[in-house]
Amino acid sequence: MNKGRRLTIEVVFFIFLVGVLYFVLPDRDASFWPKGRVDVDSGNRLVMGTFARIIAVAIDSGTANNCVEAAFEELKRIDELMSDYKSDSELSEVNREGFEKEVKVSEALFDVLKRSAAYSRETGGAFDITVGPLVDLGRWAEEKGQALGEEEILRARERVGFEKLELDEMKRTVRFSVEGMRLDLGGIAKGYAIDKAIEAMQGLGAIGGMVDVGGDIRCFGAPPEGKRLWLVGLQDPHEGGDVVGAGKLLLVLRLANGAIATSGDYRRFSVIDGKRYSHIIDTQTGHASEGLSSVTIIAKEATLVDALATAVSVLGAQKGLELIERQKGVEGVLITSGPKYEVLKSSGVGKYIE
Ligand code: ADP
Ligand code: MG
Repeated sequence: MNKGRRLTIEVVFFIFLVGVLYFVLPDRDASFWPKGRVDVDSGNRLVMGTFARIIAVAIDSGTANNCVEAAFEELKRIDELMSDYKSDSELSEVNREGFEKEVKVSEALFDVLKRSAAYSRETGGAFDITVGPLVDLGRWAEEKGQALGEEEILRARERVGFEKLELDEMKRTVRFSVEGMRLDLGGIAKGYAIDKAIEAMQGLGAIGGMVDVGGDIRCFGAPPEGKRLWLVGLQDPHEGGDVVGAGKLLLVLRLANGAIATSGDYRRFSVIDGKRYSHIIDTQTGHASEGLSSVTIIAKEATLVDALATAVSVLGAQKGLELIERQKGVEGVLITSGPKYEVLKSSGVGKYIE
């Protein structure tokens, strides 16, 4: 690919990496903390094509360090299974062979495929990992610098649709019912990896921790010494720079145990003929989603919030908010695209806002 001509501007992580800010613990709550606790903060490391940061809180530094390293191992393991940039990943094997034969996959990959299918059903197809051929078409248009024709989109859409994905739970296999399908886990793998990393830390004795991969975050238990809750800054997409720490915070979210993900066309997008296109595609139309410049979802698990942030971006403000309200334990903050920027909040999000 000719990098010089490539007009993609990828601003991968300037939200949230602004930092997890912390509350100061009032003295009277000091008894809340066990004695001799230790925090280990990994700082930023490159994983899954973005920056990841992990904090572990434990009763000794050996345990905290082990937790951090084990969590990074999980991120790498999931990436090696599910990356579509790696030709030897399990996902790439499925994409190569899925039409020819049933492909037996790992428990982790099957789990993600099964959840993805469930999210497709719950979101009326807004979330759909079979989006691959449309993603490819979008990349092609971007390289050529020309908008897509309806004819090309129609042809690609014949190879898209979650109902064309056959999953056999007993045999743990996956098969494509149409030739030329391609699965893309870009809207869910990061969240799943975060959940697995958190599980690894909990299994090794962490009493608290946080995993941040490219701005999608999950935290649990005790935050670092002297603080009471995990705080996550949500950047204003219209007031931002594109480097870590730049830009204005729109609001600060307060989290004890939970996950936050943000999807937005201000974070990753393409420019074709001067027009900006989101990397999230509405598989019903074949076109990039429009209308929302940022969608932040809060719930218990990272897998769910990652997928829902992508789905709500497709659904748009009204249907997106309806979906959030329908789901128990799910909240969201949506920011509409111009010309008039509006911040829309789900009914229960107030309890997370500073
Ligand atoms: P990021 O956090 O990297 O911005 P998102 O979670 O917002 O990513 O997901 C965007 C990615 O999801 C796209 O780059 C693409 O790989 C994939 N994708 C695009 N459209 C859809 C869709 N309708 N359903 C599921 N995944 C999608
Ligand atoms: Mg997502």
